Amino acid sequence: MAVIIAGGGIVGLTLALSLHEVGISCQVFEQSRELKPLGVGINVLPHAVRELTELGLLDQLAATAISTRELGYYSKRGQKIWTEPRGLDAGYNWPQFSIFRGDLQMILLDAVRDRLGPNAVRSGCCLSEFEVRENEVAATFTDRGSGKNIETVTGDILVGADGIHSTMRKKFYPQEGAPIWNGAILWRGVTRGEPFLDGQTMIMAGHEHQKFVCYPISSEARGRGNSVINWIAELKVDPNEAWAPEDWNRKGVLDDFLPRFEDWDFGWLNVPEIIRTASQIYEFPMVDRDPLPRWTHGRATLIGDAAHAMYPIGSNGATQGIIDARVLTRELVAKGICQAALLSYEDERRPITARIVELNRQNGPEQVMQAVEEKASDGFDRIEDVLSMQELNDTAMKYKKMAGFEQDVLNERASIVSG
Ligand SMILES: Cc1cc2nc3c(=O)[nH]c(=O)nc-3n(C[C@H](O)[C@H](O)[C@H](O)COP(=O)(O)OP(=O)(O)OC[C@H]3O[C@@H](n4cnc5c(N)ncnc54)[C@H](O)[C@@H]3O)c2cc1C
Repeated sequence: MAVIIAGGGIVGLTLALSLHEVGISCQVFEQSRELKPLGVGINVLPHAVRELTELGLLDQLAATAISTRELGYYSKRGQKIWTEPRGLDAGYNWPQFSIFRGDLQMILLDAVRDRLGPNAVRSGCCLSEFEVRENEVAATFTDRGSGKNIETVTGDILVGADGIHSTMRKKFYPQEGAPIWNGAILWRGVTRGEPFLDGQTMIMAGHEHQKFVCYPISSEARGRGNSVINWIAELKVDPNEAWAPEDWNRKGVLDDFLPRFEDWDFGWLNVPEIIRTASQIYEFPMVDRDPLPRWTHGRATLIGDAAHAMYPIGSNGATQGIIDARVLTRELVAKGICQAALLSYEDERRPITARIVELNRQNGPEQVMQAVEEKASDGFDRIEDVLSMQELNDTAMKYKKMAGFEQDVLNERASIVSG
């Protein structure tokens, strides 16, 4: 086998599809016994939707996702700070999709099984050990529950797409420890209800210490005049308090955060009502990891969250991982299945993703909300009295440029894989 992929999340599966498209053999090993549609909402920006489109997935995605038309930043009183068009409405050739993470993962999984065969994804196989040799890698997979060895597989290269708690990363950097927490807790939920604004808008309200983000994620509900609203309520808490470590499936408790949002009824959006009527709530600390000095060690490399876990700011988590998968594919085609390809993939992707990790630590494009809180905590008559349109525009543009999705640049540049 040419490429062993550890991890069957969004990025591992995208990489498998991408390699298959160019004729490179691969197999995905996923630790979970069964791949289920887990998670709540996620955003995929136009530069990643372009890649998924080139992989032939646009129609399936469009059938379930919401094509996001606008992004708006609001104060904690629901006053408008900045809005901008998004996706097709902003002139991109590709939409921005807001979608259930589980739906996205299942679309990718079905495509992998369909195109690469039913055994292309081996579930219940947790990467536990690996050995990087001169001409090959050997990866050992165990059953996570029993710890029993399942199989040792050899291949030309090994790619760690095993997420924020990556085993591969831990082996390369044993001293690194747990992800870094910034003192904020995120409660993520999904609520079925009345659409807000135009039913295709993503909004963020509040500031660095208390924020509410929400956006609709399912086109299926729209047909019935409803909306499936994904939301994230964020609070800074006492960093000395012991919060449970990050686990995507930990259930959240309403009393821990709803009281702080009780008076956030903006008229056009009733935040406490949305929170109270949620069908599911999960709790996750705001964590990331420091950028690494190296991803590639011989014939093994990292990708996606394993390489560059970042705060969920600016909608870049899945997006950057999808771009990683495509750049890695291009380099494997150009240089062959060898370490040189891994190094040139890393040379391109590591600096960009490190900058996004850093920018997200300064709140990315959301920094305008904190600026408004500091300058006009009691509200304002005109936003121009608080921040100039130039400042607002510059902040939005700077982030897009850094994260690689300036509209004209993206529309005009050549395809990553097919040139
Ligand atoms: C269960 C779950 C729910 C999530 N929910 C959300 C959400 O609601 N909103 C959001 O914005 N982001 C969510 N994320 C994170 C989001 O998917 C990622 O930030 C982003 O898509 C990058 O994807 P990734 O493939 O690099 O990592 P991930 O999506 O985290 O995928 C990593 C995969 O590797 C597997 N894995 C881990 N260790 C091993 C190992 N040793 N051997 C084999 N397999 C291994 C994991 O089980 C997982 O399937 C979730 C992630 C998970 C795992």
